[in-house]
Amino acid sequence: MRLKRSQNKIIAGVCAGIAESVGVNPKVIRFLYAFLTVFTGFSGVVVYIILTLVLDTKDQAEYLCYETYTDKREKEKKESENYQYCSNCGVRTKKSQTFCSNCGNIVNL
Ligand SMILES: [Zn+2]
Repeated sequence: MRLKRSQNKIIAGVCAGIAESVGVNPKVIRFLYAFLTVFTGFSGVVVYIILTLVLDTKDQAEYLCYETYTDKREKEKKESENYQYCSNCGVRTKKSQTFCSNCGNIVNL
């Protein structure tokens, strides 16, 4: 994902944009950013202004795409909870099944 400013913003969405492109909670980046700005020689304010001017704001389509992606992950997770793996051959079978459809091993006692 290309770095862009987020619409989930406090000032201009730069920190949240970074967070979304790295895949972490925006609060973590905001904290780190503020920490570096206050306690180190990092020119956070200047860099923030530059990033605000340079980076585009994400458009709604990218958010839709992002939501679809997280929905898909949720769905996959839910689906995997309904399955178990055969200890004998590793084939995925439904939890409701007692025997592995591949090797006949008892997978659910
Ligand atoms: Zn099996």
